[in-house]
Amino acid sequence: MNISEIFENLDYGKAPEDAKLAYSWIKENGNFGHFIDGKFSKASNIFASINPATGEELAKISDGKKQDVNRAVKAARLAFTGWSATSGFERAKYLYAIARQIQKNARLFAVLETLDNGKVIRESRDVDIPLVIRHFYHHAGWAQNLKNQFSNHTPYGVCGQIIPWNFPLLMLSWKVAPALAAGNTVVLKPAEATSLSALLFAQICQNVGLPKGVVNIVTGHGATGAAIVEHDDVDKIAFTGSTKVGKIIREKLAGTGKGLSLELGGKSAFIVFEDADIDGAVEGVIDAIYFNQGEVCCAGSRLLLQESIEKKFIKKLKARMDKLRLGDPLDKMSDIGAMIDEKEVARVNDIIADGVKNGASLFQAKGTLPKKGCFIKPTLFSDVSPSDEIVQKEIFGPVLVSMSFRNPEEALALATNSIYGLAASVWSENLNLALDIVPRLKTGVVWVNCATQFDASVGFGGYKESGFGREGGAEGMRAYLKRDWEKKLKPIAIKVKKSPSKTNLVSGVDKTAKMFIGGKQARGDGGYCVDVFDANGNVAGQVSDGNRKDIRNAVEAANKASTWADKTAHLRSQILYYLGENLDYRKGEFAEKIRLLTGANKAQAKKEVETSIERLFAFAGFADKYDGKVHNPPMRAIAFALNEPIGTIGICAPDENPLLASISMMAAAVAMGNRIVLVPSKIAPLLMSDFYQVIETSDVPNGVINIVTGDSLTLGKVLSEHDGVDALWFAGSQDEAKIIERVSTGNLKQTWVTRGQNYNWFDGEKMGGEFLLEKATQVKNVWVPYGV
Ligand code: NAD
Repeated sequence: MNISEIFENLDYGKAPEDAKLAYSWIKENGNFGHFIDGKFSKASNIFASINPATGEELAKISDGKKQDVNRAVKAARLAFTGWSATSGFERAKYLYAIARQIQKNARLFAVLETLDNGKVIRESRDVDIPLVIRHFYHHAGWAQNLKNQFSNHTPYGVCGQIIPWNFPLLMLSWKVAPALAAGNTVVLKPAEATSLSALLFAQICQNVGLPKGVVNIVTGHGATGAAIVEHDDVDKIAFTGSTKVGKIIREKLAGTGKGLSLELGGKSAFIVFEDADIDGAVEGVIDAIYFNQGEVCCAGSRLLLQESIEKKFIKKLKARMDKLRLGDPLDKMSDIGAMIDEKEVARVNDIIADGVKNGASLFQAKGTLPKKGCFIKPTLFSDVSPSDEIVQKEIFGPVLVSMSFRNPEEALALATNSIYGLAASVWSENLNLALDIVPRLKTGVVWVNCATQFDASVGFGGYKESGFGREGGAEGMRAYLKRDWEKKLKPIAIKVKKSPSKTNLVSGVDKTAKMFIGGKQARGDGGYCVDVFDANGNVAGQVSDGNRKDIRNAVEAANKASTWADKTAHLRSQILYYLGENLDYRKGEFAEKIRLLTGANKAQAKKEVETSIERLFAFAGFADKYDGKVHNPPMRAIAFALNEPIGTIGICAPDENPLLASISMMAAAVAMGNRIVLVPSKIAPLLMSDFYQVIETSDVPNGVINIVTGDSLTLGKVLSEHDGVDALWFAGSQDEAKIIERVSTGNLKQTWVTRGQNYNWFDGEKMGGEFLLEKATQVKNVWVPYGV
């Protein structure tokens, strides 16, 4: 290009970044082995790491086998005792030193990332690496403040961490920094396509003198990841990747009691109202979908435009897309780099071709693709309908679909019509409108008048099939810690009640206790009953034997009551107090029933009822206090974290302390705005079927609390399979927990299973506060920039 051409089209010349340093680092290190117990092993079972922009082989990487994973886990286990006992200040110094070292080598890291992944240098230099550094600095602070911020918490132990290729070092930092700050040791597997920055990071760990075995890096493919997941001596798995693999991992860990956090796929909505700053929103959408070639879990890949501005917006967007510079990722002037590999290019191009075949209108930015390398032009589809595959499926490439809406309700209906719930972006100059939309979006992150913002102090993670668990912020730290009392729980000795060999027929008028669905007493669909025995094995009464249809009805009723979440916390609190008050009126009667059904003595039965009332008061008190936080990310923005209800929670209560346990679980869930379907304990369902009379007199809106009696494993399984249930709490044995968690993968519901452990329901400090409230909520982080 000559100078007169530059004047003509105001284009830039090339400004390539020097890659010499990165190449010489690769050359010096030759073939890469694993980083285990503080040393690099000899390379074995090698495969190539390819530069996707040129097709050149960059390095040879080892494909980790089971024995490599075993060695790494062993090293991490050995290191755990020392590392977890190291003072917070000492751990902070290591994290600080890592941050400093990455900062000093920022250029090498950025170039290496660009070579290995294909992302443009402008992004690896200005986004990925600065965020990595910030992450380690931020978590140095957590390490030191852990004891006062998370008293009575303890690290999990050995954490297995598996990450994808789209932000290789950034995903590593999101996993390693909080794990180390909390006192865990780690075995991390980078994605097979992008291991180099993790291996350079391993050298940083050596350079700062991190004790051996604290960080172990085993490279390899999916099978290496699977070996980490399946290893018996790993205490927690943190996974970022596709929803498909996330579900496989959920299933494998069912019933094991290992910690699990899943950061999965997305199909995020980018909503633009007619009063938005249009030029700002166009820049926003470019950033949301074409940043990192669209290989971003939270990419704003569904553009929703208010009808009145649709034409104008699309015209501006197309003009802007035409200006994007696609090509050499090392050129500082490039906006769009290479996709990760040829397979991904072919997969995304197939989706584009299908979109065209199915009648969507295609627009691709001007310009020609480089002759070699894995490139796809920025792509925009319009004339699509909400159920089209390109609208529903995560494409994970530079492909945007655009639809229009008439009013906020329609925008919300389109935005929430997705199995995913990772992020959303809302654009309007009317902050009232934007903030009205925010809580109604079922996503873990919402950006108001901005897009794709991240910071170590602000949690990130999804709702629905985008996974569970958070990274960043206090909630991200909590994901690497367990309560020390919970770690020490022992299996419960289950008392089996005497039961007669054959059913006693109950004579006279039928007094089968009804179920409670949608605010009404309901007979079981199947018409069958089960006997309930007293402590001496005599029939004390009968309850309906609920079935699949009853659960479906109860879930439907619960989902209809979703406005419970919009009620004020004050009102929810008042209703729980009212429940407590009304139970208090009948406490003698309930205590008698506890005696009869469980064989508890008078004092024990009295204590259980009184503690149940106290528990209702405790959660009533929390309803308007367990709220969020405001963060200060390093930009002119506030980011606020909201504790939101999860939705409909299925609860299968334990046999022990049947009234107290049911009420504790119910009250925690309902206090935070959830609706519940409760399956009361096998031993004493009559207690809870009496409790609905208390509910009926306490102003609880219909459908908020539903009670279905019957076999808890059968009904728990139906609840776990049901896509209308968002979370499941199941009290039962380890074997039952395995069954329940296995079938929960359908919509990736959040589960809490007691695995036959001896939870002390009488302990108000443990079971009457944050422990259950955390399970009843998920954190949404909302970014709102300010300034003019
Ligand atoms: P992937 O699921 O194919 O692979 C992710 C990682 O899992 C890789 O390291 C891979 O080797 C490993 N793996 C594959 N099979 C495994 C198995 N059976 N057991 C254990 N590990 C296994 O995903 P990908 O294609 O590398 O990454 C793209 C996906 O990651 C997208 O769906 C994207 O949305 C998601 N992602 C999510 C986030 C988030 O924070 N939510 C962030 C980045 C990427």
